[in-house]
Amino acid sequence: MMRIRDDVALVGSGDIAGFSLTDPYDCSIYLLDGGDELALIDAGSGEDVDELIAQVRAAGCRPERIRYVFLTHAHFDHAGGCRALRDRLGVQVVALAEAARRVRTADTEATAFAAAQRAGMYPAHLRCEPCPVDRVVVDGETLAVGRLRLTALATPGHSADHCAYLLAGQAPALFSGDCVLAGGRVIIQHIADCLLEDYARSIRKLAAQDFTALLPGHGLFALNRGRRHLDVAVAALDQLLMPGNLVT
Ligand SMILES: [Zn+2]
Repeated sequence: MMRIRDDVALVGSGDIAGFSLTDPYDCSIYLLDGGDELALIDAGSGEDVDELIAQVRAAGCRPERIRYVFLTHAHFDHAGGCRALRDRLGVQVVALAEAARRVRTADTEATAFAAAQRAGMYPAHLRCEPCPVDRVVVDGETLAVGRLRLTALATPGHSADHCAYLLAGQAPALFSGDCVLAGGRVIIQHIADCLLEDYARSIRKLAAQDFTALLPGHGLFALNRGRRHLDVAVAALDQLLMPGNLVT
């Protein structure tokens, strides 16, 4: 567990440019501490929910108080754990409409989980479980977690269903998912819904936000001066290039 701010702890992180805190297939999973209520940004793979819950306890929080999981997108390493978390803790799963559709139907072609398995990135024994989604959000919608307020930012490109979340406050934090990572890196994959034009527009959209901390879906995060990572990505776009891809 890493309590990284008063209001945020890192409670999950795998081996894809990660901190190897929990299951190897987990993305970075952040716990929001809103006082009365807690929430997670992303669910991870669901391959080791016990360890994830242990990390929440280690952060000094009671897992039963986790009210929501806000999904950045439906890729397995981010959303695979929804079902287990919902079944065990009664969390409400919150996502954009397209992510919600993919999670509800376990649409493994749309999420490229099937392709990733065929490519050997995920072992054959991993399974994607359908999961109800309790709330569908739209771009710009404000979400409350106890005393905290977040805004959903639709950011397609890495995938069609991608959403970032901006946490308001004295030091606003941008949960950028897989759209932009530390160093201005991106995650471009040869999959059907990874679209460069959308991706570039989404990077510029995030660069236009006011934030201090950059907390991405994989790898290092920045507690201050988070904007400089977006500046690197935008500088590449200004040269008609895509920013560098995440190297794992
Ligand atoms: Zn992804």
